[in-house]
Amino acid sequence: MRDHFELRDGDAAGRIGELSVPRAGVTVETPALMAVVNPNIRTISPARLESDFGAEILITNSYIIHKNEDLHETALDVGLHELLGFDGAIVTDSGSFQLAEYGDIEVTTREILEFQREIGSDIGTPVDIPTPPDVSREQAERELRLTEEALADAEGVDTGEMLVNAPVQGSTYPDLREEAGRHAYATDLDVFPVGAVVPLMNNYRYADMIDAVAAAKRGLGRDAPVHLFGAGHPMMFALAVAAGCDLFDSAAYAIYARDDRYLTVRGTEQLDDLEYFPCSCAVCSAHDPDELRAYGDEERERLLAEHNLHVSFSEIRRVKQAIRSGNLLELVESRARGHPAMLDGYRALLDHAEQLEREDPISKGSFFYLSAESARRPEVRRHHERIGRLDAGETVLLTQGGKPSGDTYDAAWRVVPPFGPFPRALSETYPFTAEVPERTDRSAYEAAAEGVSRLVAANPETTFVLAHDDWPASALARVPEGVELESLTGESRAEN
Ligand SMILES: [Zn+2]
Repeated sequence: MRDHFELRDGDAAGRIGELSVPRAGVTVETPALMAVVNPNIRTISPARLESDFGAEILITNSYIIHKNEDLHETALDVGLHELLGFDGAIVTDSGSFQLAEYGDIEVTTREILEFQREIGSDIGTPVDIPTPPDVSREQAERELRLTEEALADAEGVDTGEMLVNAPVQGSTYPDLREEAGRHAYATDLDVFPVGAVVPLMNNYRYADMIDAVAAAKRGLGRDAPVHLFGAGHPMMFALAVAAGCDLFDSAAYAIYARDDRYLTVRGTEQLDDLEYFPCSCAVCSAHDPDELRAYGDEERERLLAEHNLHVSFSEIRRVKQAIRSGNLLELVESRARGHPAMLDGYRALLDHAEQLEREDPISKGSFFYLSAESARRPEVRRHHERIGRLDAGETVLLTQGGKPSGDTYDAAWRVVPPFGPFPRALSETYPFTAEVPERTDRSAYEAAAEGVSRLVAANPETTFVLAHDDWPASALARVPEGVELESLTGESRAEN
């Protein structure tokens, strides 16, 4: 049990949590976005991150500070909080990125963790090995051993009140990610970054990213705070939160601004291509794209970075509200429509519906059926599991419509796509209060037929009649033989 992280609310595998950071004396509400602050380049000052953007936590690189003589001395002298001018929680990275980039760094896990503690970091990081995607299995395994050694070294360092990251590696091998998660969770370390996913995100491989996160989560306990390391694009926050990520870090806000790139929740735009700003932040309200283009490089970069931060922080707030309202998957679904690669990510998430279902709350606000993907949501899966345990009686009418007059059935159950049949008494309970479009797609009917099939399998002695609202042939084909069919519309529709 990790007592520094408490879960307050949840939706799918997403959650609102409270991360206590004892050294900083603050509690950070998650999901949280940590702006990456380069100690050498302050595009936006940490004090402004706090005052103008409400940042409770940020991340900087202790290795850069360690290597730079002036920063090194100042940090030891006045402390990291004073150096950066920030009162909230400060996370420090270790130089693992530089190790991956340049093949060698000049510090060990023990040295860099002791340095992080000495300069006043609130959450430190050992020197793990960020194994990129698609390497040989042998390399992934070898490097995972080194990361596990780094975690063991970290456990042996006296870090005082500083929390310590336990990165989860394993490249694109789900079983290694899961093993890495299990190993990291068994240490006495505190926060769990899923590492080396940046190349996946840079190449829009959101499905692979979700598979990596889902695998890591299978190894980690539910009370483990999870940081998706290097993830800073607002378009994927909802998806990653729904998969169970709690912390994000954005270097993107500054790096993209330097290249005149404008972040939105639907993707990235080039400032040069914009005639209008689809945003109402302070920057976009006060300027149009022409005005922004007319600024000098430095001012334009700062303003773009501010917009990029605004859109990122506001998406985090939207995600949190969606968790509170119980419609996070509806938000993921709408984000998935912004880019085909996001749709792949959402579909990959639904491949893990069984895993999501274990954490998804029993009751939420309302279920909106918005696309064929909705038929694969954890709520549908849960009902199908449950329906296989229901006792139906001798003769049961399953109907999408009302109860026919003069019927002789023992019971008339309602049928709602994509769930299928359920006892009428449950009509007003979640998720059967679902809003489903009148022009429902085939997937919803097919999922409903799957529900019928589960019920029939559990009640082989029962006589069932299914009164349906003109289901497509592909759905009727899934209804077991022996179930009498009755069309409520009196016509049959051709399969389309
Ligand atoms: Zn804006």
